[in-house]
Amino acid sequence: MIQIDLSGHVAVVTGGSSGIGFATARLFLQAGASVAICGRDGARLEAAQAALAEAFPQAPLLASRCDVLDAEQVNAFAARVKQRFGRVDMLVNNAGQGRVSTFADTADDAWRDELELKYFSIIRPTRAFLPMLKDAPAIVCVNSLLALQPEPHMVATSSARAGVLSLVKSLATELAPQNIRVNSILIGIVESGQWKRRYQNYLKENAEQPSWQQWTAELARKKNIPLGRFGLPEEAAQALFYLATPLSSYTTGSHIDVSGGFARHV
Ligand code: NDP
Repeated sequence: MIQIDLSGHVAVVTGGSSGIGFATARLFLQAGASVAICGRDGARLEAAQAALAEAFPQAPLLASRCDVLDAEQVNAFAARVKQRFGRVDMLVNNAGQGRVSTFADTADDAWRDELELKYFSIIRPTRAFLPMLKDAPAIVCVNSLLALQPEPHMVATSSARAGVLSLVKSLATELAPQNIRVNSILIGIVESGQWKRRYQNYLKENAEQPSWQQWTAELARKKNIPLGRFGLPEEAAQALFYLATPLSSYTTGSHIDVSGGFARHV
């Protein structure tokens, strides 16, 4: 296994209090990096901070409440990171969630909310942390396979995800002269907080009470995911880690598919 020592390096993970972001923060801490995470829900953030501090008692860790859609909060988060760590080497734009709706039931406000979330969850943190990015740094965005393979039941999310693919490419080109790399991962379905909430809703709304394993396996089967299961947050985190570190030093404006073979294109 390749070992990489990130001591002296600083990683910022938006939405680090749950799912993919939390698993990514863990990986960075494991590699010796200082880590800053953010999220909106204070209790969720505190629980994540406590779990990470228990696993890595000596690790430099900052957890800060911040809504990535609020410019003032993002700037305040960036100021706290600057005060505590002085620099940033890796920015993971991960915060967010998907919206399940067809064209028929997506109103204008829902379209605006979704486009705002997908674009500004990248634009605001990138703008705020850019002046702190040091020595061949990297920005990695969590994107979805929906960018290339839209689903009609997630029309607004799919459309916004396609735009994010373009945004990542443009950022990569614009920032390359500063030696800042920008990449993304395209994920299919990954077990995480949002899927746990969908499972709980299913249990509330249905007489049938499958276990989490049965429910996810059935969904994977219905969706024809070749590897036959959902991905784990750790599997998405490993791809993010690769793109955020010098392991991928000659890769920019690109993306990695983490979908268990769900992508239908060659
Ligand atoms: P989780 O719900 O487990 O985690 C989402 C994280 O983002 C939480 O920490 C949440 O904390 C935070 N968050 C959400 N909105 C904001 C906001 N406005 N400002 C700051 N933090 C926010 O879900 P995932 O780990 O699955 O999601 C991670 C990313 O992966 C998301 O962008 C999601 O859209 C994307 N994705 C996930 C897929 C999947 O199958 N899991 C599929 C495709 C894409 P809090 O709510 O407290 O703010």
